[in-house]
Amino acid sequence: MSNRRLALAGATCLLLTLALGTGCDRDKEPAADKTEEKAKAVTAERIIQADKEPGNWMSHGRTYDEQRFSPLDQVNSENVGELGLAWSYKLDVDRGTEATALVVDGVMYTTGAWSIVYALDARTGELLWKYDPEVPRAVAGRGCCGVVNRGVAIWENKLYLGTFDGRLVALDAKTGRELWSEVTVDQNKNYTITGAPRVINGKVLIGNGGAELGVRGYISAYDARTGEMIWRFYTVPGDPSQPQSNAALEEAVKTWHGKLWYEQGGGGTVWDSMAYDPELDLLYIGTGNGSPWNIKYRSEGKGDNLYLSSIVALKPDTGEYVWHYQTTPGDTWDFTATQHIILADLEIAGKKRKVLMQAPKNGFFYVIDRATGELISANNFVPINWASGIDMETGRPIKTGEADYSKEPKLVMPSPFGAHNWHPMSYNPQTGLVYIPAQITFIVHADLGQPPASAINLWNVGIAPFDIPDSEDEMAKMGEGFKGLLLAWDPVKQEAAWSVEYISPWNGGTLSTAGNLVFQGTADGRVTAYEAGSGKLLWESPANTGVIAAPMTYTVDGEQYVTFMAGWGGAFPLVTPGLEPDIKVQAEARVLTYKLGGDQSLPPAKHDPVPIPTPPELTADAEQLALGKFFYQGLCATCHGVSVVSSSVTPDLRYLSAETHEQFNAIVAGARADKGMPAFGHLIQPEQMEAIHQYIIKRSHDLVKRAEEMKASAEPEVE
Ligand code: CA
Repeated sequence: MSNRRLALAGATCLLLTLALGTGCDRDKEPAADKTEEKAKAVTAERIIQADKEPGNWMSHGRTYDEQRFSPLDQVNSENVGELGLAWSYKLDVDRGTEATALVVDGVMYTTGAWSIVYALDARTGELLWKYDPEVPRAVAGRGCCGVVNRGVAIWENKLYLGTFDGRLVALDAKTGRELWSEVTVDQNKNYTITGAPRVINGKVLIGNGGAELGVRGYISAYDARTGEMIWRFYTVPGDPSQPQSNAALEEAVKTWHGKLWYEQGGGGTVWDSMAYDPELDLLYIGTGNGSPWNIKYRSEGKGDNLYLSSIVALKPDTGEYVWHYQTTPGDTWDFTATQHIILADLEIAGKKRKVLMQAPKNGFFYVIDRATGELISANNFVPINWASGIDMETGRPIKTGEADYSKEPKLVMPSPFGAHNWHPMSYNPQTGLVYIPAQITFIVHADLGQPPASAINLWNVGIAPFDIPDSEDEMAKMGEGFKGLLLAWDPVKQEAAWSVEYISPWNGGTLSTAGNLVFQGTADGRVTAYEAGSGKLLWESPANTGVIAAPMTYTVDGEQYVTFMAGWGGAFPLVTPGLEPDIKVQAEARVLTYKLGGDQSLPPAKHDPVPIPTPPELTADAEQLALGKFFYQGLCATCHGVSVVSSSVTPDLRYLSAETHEQFNAIVAGARADKGMPAFGHLIQPEQMEAIHQYIIKRSHDLVKRAEEMKASAEPEVE
């Protein structure tokens, strides 16, 4: 451009500016974008007024009260049978998929295993961008329950992600570009982040997990714009020989005994639930179990151990303690209170009450006054044996002693899988019911007999490794007592209005809608919809895999969509054999989005590798096998399944090839750390490693034998 033309252009701009108040230089162009961006920015106002734009889903539980109730009713109990697949998107890693997707103005933001973030066109499922935080695969063993992630938060035009290795990352929502990244944990310890952040008043809130492996729990708040840490609230005390950092911890430290808890972290991790009441300006968090589990070692067998297994109310601007309610004082069973917290206004005994509701692992459904922390009511929602009820005078559980394993092994109901785990519930204000993905599970707990060691990758809970017979028949018999339930719970009457039974625990979270519907994915590989008032099954469709996440719903261009994040995994599938072989689901990770008249179909489901390689020769004697089983159950079973029967999220070691058997010691020492098999070699002696290997070989021979027996019994008799 010549100087003369530039001058002319400049003059025209000047005229335009004078006449219209608008310029035409290049700097002005993004101004229009900025206005648009500002309009699209997710603000406190927008999240608080979420019902004004029901087509969006802007925070983890849709609204700050985390009800997971959508006012959308285009899909309803009359037409839900016409729901079909609109689109699906295959995620990179076939492992547990626990995220709740967010949708803002036609864009879906969701996460998969290894904390990978996906931005998708919410109408078509087309990938807009992807962000991989490149979590080092060697840290897999630092988590109790798989390399899962439960989703992102959005604030203004940024997304916030907690990564499995403990970072909090801010991304440009438009491009996925990393804006800042802060390490929120001591990465030399067994901290992990799997939970979704929340954002309140410009502060990003994030907790962490790790109480099975010796850490001290806390929640932190970071400035959403800069990543600067603003406050941190520890849920358990620090060094008991020193003054505590605040009055709440001074109170708490009186409830702990000895010092092993301090040396091994104490636990109380804030790994999932949060809720916020903007009127009371209170943040509610759920805290986890003690570390180690066994109170005999953690706290000399006594004390409440505050603030383990508690609901704690904090001021979100400062992190200051306001009140707490401890669901399981002196927890010794991994009874976390990190489960979903829902805020609602209920009429109880003729009075409108602002309540908080939780159905933690311990099996009680609690209704609590969320302004004061006063317990309003509680009742068990599944059969349990550790407590016979809650004393309404003191708010404390009435322990039965039946679950006290300090002197002898005891069968405890529920197991550490919980009567309800992280899988979100939902509350429908129209039916007044809470839809709980509940489950019936039990376990035999036995004292370890010695204080647990503290080490990286070591599950140090202070109880003896699982003692389960090496027999598929015995295991199946045990499994028969396990089941899943969809419970429609009346929180005022404290009783079930209806329930649906599933063949397995670990079913998906629930979504309620104004269409008189409850949506849920299942452990047996389906997506379903029930009539909210009656529990009648109105729609189901195969998902190719177990579905554990909670579905969500949104609109684009006036059309309603329902999204399920599908992908079998997490604690239960990692530890247990899973379902019966003929209905066994595989870990297959996808975003599945449905609409009325959707006509897409899924590719065929993955299947187990059927051929069983010939196992190496078994050389161990009974004593060596017993030693191998002890170490396998203690070190390997939490990911590869008890007694070497895997539900397929991680490899079933009975199917190892001859080549892999040859590399066994190197793999245990860390040769496949970059693929997610952590190094365990430093935790065991060579003869213990050999014993584990022999035990796996023995279980491979058991499998071959069983397969031959089954084949023989299936062959028709010759006449
Ligand atoms: Ca736990």
